[in-house]
Amino acid sequence: IDVELQVAHDFYKTIQGKKPEKVKIIVSSHNYQNTPSLEEIGNLVARIQATGADIVKVATTAVDITDSARIFQVLVHSQVPMIGLVMGDRGFISRILSAKFGGFLTFGSIEAGVVSAPGQPSIKDLLDLYNFRLLGPDTKVHGVIGNPIGHSKSPHLYNPAFKSVNFNGIYLPLLVDNVANFLKTYSSPDFVGYSYTIPHKEAGFNCCDEIDPIAKEIGAISCMIKRPDGNLMGYNVDYLGAIAAIEEGLRASNGASPVSGSPLAGKLFVVMGAGGAGKALAFGGKEKGARVVVANRTYDKAKQLANKVGGEAITLAELENFHPEDGMILANTTSVGMKPKIEDTPLSKKALKHYSLVFDAIYTPKLTRLLREAQESGATIVYGTEMFINQAFVQFEKFSGLPAPKQLIRDTLARNTKEGI
Ligand code: NAP
Repeated sequence: IDVELQVAHDFYKTIQGKKPEKVKIIVSSHNYQNTPSLEEIGNLVARIQATGADIVKVATTAVDITDSARIFQVLVHSQVPMIGLVMGDRGFISRILSAKFGGFLTFGSIEAGVVSAPGQPSIKDLLDLYNFRLLGPDTKVHGVIGNPIGHSKSPHLYNPAFKSVNFNGIYLPLLVDNVANFLKTYSSPDFVGYSYTIPHKEAGFNCCDEIDPIAKEIGAISCMIKRPDGNLMGYNVDYLGAIAAIEEGLRASNGASPVSGSPLAGKLFVVMGAGGAGKALAFGGKEKGARVVVANRTYDKAKQLANKVGGEAITLAELENFHPEDGMILANTTSVGMKPKIEDTPLSKKALKHYSLVFDAIYTPKLTRLLREAQESGATIVYGTEMFINQAFVQFEKFSGLPAPKQLIRDTLARNTKEGI
């Protein structure tokens, strides 16, 4: 029986000690405004305990994701069975990690979205997505840091993958307002790995203790790992994913042995676009020993990037008649051809005949007009979905230290979206 603290005294008076042996009394306190200080929560727990409660319940409201940390601290140290939850979207992690920090129970809705308190997950998600029954004190916490983050597919990808290799980890959506505060608050060795998405890639970059040299040159990270010494290490897995996808495509088309050096080495590698993805591809190409050409609508941006990778800069218009040699590699990182404008394309079909492989970073649609026409021109094509999948493999390996269950990740992604990722 769950009794509100305000009426607990009256309740106990009414039953006059006639509580059946098997019945337990939960005495609860709800705060719909905020989450008080650690000291105040401690005092509240003592007051609830003093009523004679069998189980103490404290539910507060999250103003920020860091509010859950105080509830975790109280849960871990509680001498009595305790339910500690932080309501609201920003308190979501408290509902899942309650199992890790020793909470007596958590609440799940029977139907997704039909909740009795804000932020509640469904029972199905608790059990099937977050593997609630498997969580314990040693479970390592990972997640994707962004804002908004509710619709991220990443938890659907990493949690089943962790489970399939018996890795004791969880991956959560992390609705973060201030990255530095988040990292400072959750600085314990329990919180170990993050993916970064919009708008926090730059803030993540600024919070790293060490940054992978290529990520440093690109100026953005997409993955952060806490090392055993507590240092935060930043990586750009976008470039690793894209380059791995292109290398795989080249190897498959050449029949080259997968162990020999990069098939990109020495190749003329044309990168269309000079934004975030363009930088990742251009630096990746340089790293693998390719001769890089950056073609961008805005020439100045092409020039800046080309200078950094020791390559050549041209405009997109000039690319139409650019064919110093045959067998070049082309990567599109502009948004031209992306849904809904799927009939647009950044380069004419006529120009495509000089390329042996064409990659498109766009993944909606999967088969862009550029890729369709490249295929018709006889080039090997590599889908944008491959970049996404390959960066997921790399992140999985960084998080778990184990080889990625590649087929399972592919199947999970295919199941979770109509577009195949
Ligand atoms: P971004 O930083 O905004 O850069 C956009 C690029 O597209 C710029 O080079 C821009 O040229 C060019 N561009 C935009 N509209 C154009 C137009 N009408 N004509 C010619 N060029 C145009 O974007 P981003 O983050 O690099 O993303 C670019 C694309 O890559 C998006 O479609 C995104 O979905 C995709 N992407 C895919 C993955 C994956 O995993 N597959 C990962 C990251 C990104 P200007 O400099 O002239 O403006």
